[in-house]
Amino acid sequence: MALSFALLMPAAQQDLLAVLAQQLQKDVAKVWTRTGEIWPGVDFANHAIVLTDGSRALAIDREGATETPMQDITAPQPGGFAFTTWQGRDAVVLTPYPGQTARELFETASHEAFHQYVQDDWASLRQLQGAGSRAERYPLRAEPRVLRMQLANELIAGHLPAAAHWHTQWAQRYPEEEQELRATDIAEGSAEYFGRRAAALAADTTPALKPMQDKNKQYESYAIGAAALLLADQTGRPAKQDLSREVRTPAAVVLDGVTPAAQPVPAGLAQRIQAQTDAENAALAGILDPYLKAYQEKRPLLVVPGASLAGSFQPTGFFQVEGVPDEILTETSAAFDLSTGGFEIRGVTVGMDGGDFLVPIEPGQPGVELTDGKLIVDTPDMRGSFQVKEELTDGRRLLRAQ
Ligand SMILES: [Zn+2]
Repeated sequence: MALSFALLMPAAQQDLLAVLAQQLQKDVAKVWTRTGEIWPGVDFANHAIVLTDGSRALAIDREGATETPMQDITAPQPGGFAFTTWQGRDAVVLTPYPGQTARELFETASHEAFHQYVQDDWASLRQLQGAGSRAERYPLRAEPRVLRMQLANELIAGHLPAAAHWHTQWAQRYPEEEQELRATDIAEGSAEYFGRRAAALAADTTPALKPMQDKNKQYESYAIGAAALLLADQTGRPAKQDLSREVRTPAAVVLDGVTPAAQPVPAGLAQRIQAQTDAENAALAGILDPYLKAYQEKRPLLVVPGASLAGSFQPTGFFQVEGVPDEILTETSAAFDLSTGGFEIRGVTVGMDGGDFLVPIEPGQPGVELTDGKLIVDTPDMRGSFQVKEELTDGRRLLRAQ
């Protein structure tokens, strides 16, 4: 029995991909042929989706779903996406994760295609390129999260004067954050709106956003932007053209000219978000403090050129800390091909300065040996052997990997 089950599994998996492709194709045929109704000027009628499980691929367009060779297609991680061309047409490549529905795949494809094929020539986003930072401020703050959650929830509820109150409070009290989040608010807010509308059209429903219950800084931009643009549709405000041209967020466009009505913070909300923030800061302290201590005590740093990075690197977060010029990358794993050897880190919190990685390291400590300019590292989270050049900068010993 076990043997026949094992033999049947691949066939069952193949069928699942074909079933997903058929369902997805219906959505593509129904919605991508009329995307101009969602966003003026957007036409996905000739776009395609390539659905893959890593071993085979199905190309989906408004006409149908057909097997297509895997060659030239790099399968993304399950739940991920990539872009390609299929028969000369723009295509989003998707690898479903277990349990992912065709409708979820369609929403993802619509959202990501909007970033890739629509926002690519937006003057507003081009102007903001390089502005702001992906890094979070540490310690994390509770109040801006409360203000943004309230903004999202009042927009979702359709209360414009209340939403205007929270938006004004946030922008006035946290102007630097308002600047930093502009690009994300415009890009993610409008893509989220587009994806939600596309999925709702496929389902013959209207998009319904759930109010935010918990602190989630990343999701705020999606919720606020989508809710603002849905509200713009309802109130007949022409917001969409402005977003591509001017540096204004969906919320700012929709709340333009709305007189704020003062609001109290709902009972218990501030305390709840403060408690969540305190817990996150406590967890982050253990991860960030070794780097911060190394920085403040001017302990030696290994400088590894970013140009030697082999492949991608994967930190759990990006942070900026008052008084520390470097961006801090938590629990980073990366491999480097240096001209004099190799170096690898696994889950190490490092700094980043102008693209170079800054790794706290103490020659002479167990597993770290420096002899005649050659550094040999063999610790539980770092390994490598390569030449370094030493220098003293601002009283700090820097070991530059060669
Ligand atoms: Zn997005």
